[in-house]
Amino acid sequence: MNMKKPFASPEKLREIAAEFGTPCHLYDASGMIRNLRRLQQAFAWNPGYKEFFAVKATPNPYLLQILRQEKAGTDCSSLTELIMSDRCGFKQEEIMFSSNDTPDEDFKLALKLNATINLDDISHLDTVLRLNGGQKLPEKMSCRFNPGGVFEVANGIMDNPGDAKYGMTREQIKQAYAAMRDLGVRRFGIHAFLVSNSTSNAYYPKLAKLLFELAVEIKAELGIELSFVNLSGGIGIPYRPEQEACDIEAIGAAVKAAYDSVLLPSGLGSLSIYTELGRYIMGPYGGLLTRVQYLKDTYKLYAGVDACAADLMRPAMYGAYHHITVVGKEAWPADHIYDVTGGLCENNDKFAVDRPLPLIDTGDLLFIHDTGAHGYSMGYNYNGKLRHQELLLQQDGSVRRIRRNETPRDYFATLDFSGLFEDLSEYGC
Ligand SMILES: *Cc1c(COP(=O)(O)O)cnc(C)c1O
Repeated sequence: MNMKKPFASPEKLREIAAEFGTPCHLYDASGMIRNLRRLQQAFAWNPGYKEFFAVKATPNPYLLQILRQEKAGTDCSSLTELIMSDRCGFKQEEIMFSSNDTPDEDFKLALKLNATINLDDISHLDTVLRLNGGQKLPEKMSCRFNPGGVFEVANGIMDNPGDAKYGMTREQIKQAYAAMRDLGVRRFGIHAFLVSNSTSNAYYPKLAKLLFELAVEIKAELGIELSFVNLSGGIGIPYRPEQEACDIEAIGAAVKAAYDSVLLPSGLGSLSIYTELGRYIMGPYGGLLTRVQYLKDTYKLYAGVDACAADLMRPAMYGAYHHITVVGKEAWPADHIYDVTGGLCENNDKFAVDRPLPLIDTGDLLFIHDTGAHGYSMGYNYNGKLRHQELLLQQDGSVRRIRRNETPRDYFATLDFSGLFEDLSEYGC
């Protein structure tokens, strides 16, 4: 069984809490770099392989710059993510733009940056054409595919694409490619994201085979040779200690087997593989460090911490499991049952429900695991709660603050039209 130890020692975590205060999201630079390199190695058999990190998972420029140094690109879903990618130095083909129900402003910036636009729907073609001057489309573009129905692997149904709002049908995607060719597109890609957080080694290979077969069909019917297949995100991480991590080397090898058997015989052997992993890259390399403020003993035992769902929404939103380590009590028996709660006026603001943990004292530090992706970024300001800082544990062991705590000033900034909130000094901020 995976013991799930934090990536920093209890001493280091105490030192960080003393220096920077709690709560904080803490990221591990060494871990994320090692993991990205391992992914790239698993797909190194494909000369055009590239990972486009899904910015929405962890939109922090310090982390994006590390990923850029390691040769990753970005996958953006909005105007602000495009701006962040541009400012972090990602250029043109290093930026993928995968959005749906897309505002004109977002498409405009994607066009200006010459990012690769991945169309969610055939109806977006007209919009992109209009925004690009009305005569032609960009030279490189992609389409998002939705096969409909259910997506199954050997051991059962993984998800239900037929219910998902994303992507085009088989007929639509062929129509889109034909129209795109007539409007000047020369390099075509296909993209699909069918299952989220899959720890099955079968997901990517099955998806790859489906897309490779469609690439062969498109070549046969339209004479269009796709230049990339984007397997997108969806590879999961073991949030629970009893779960196995997926085997990225086996996944890379199985995608290669599908490539060799489906694409090579059809003369499509120079097609590049892209991925847009977010959770897999960063999830395990972030943790939320929070301090227990109150212990409450009513019908249940509650440990009230200084973080809340504003900092990490996944448990409240999806009932998601995040493992918790009581710092310094790793070897103690987990012989007490707690709900670990934040301070929102919402009964679902619980990081854990009925969780066996060691005896907790007020002042104990808790390390909430696997918050490196879709953690901070999903935070919100409900109840007027402010989101907390992000810290980076750098490769040399030093810690850098890479996002400060929000302040009341930040909270009031969007309503401050008449100077009502200009001077907050009497409130100490
Ligand atoms: C969210 C998203 C991703 C990343 O998903 P993960 O589950 O974090 O791997 C990749 N591509 C697109 C288009 C997305 O919307």
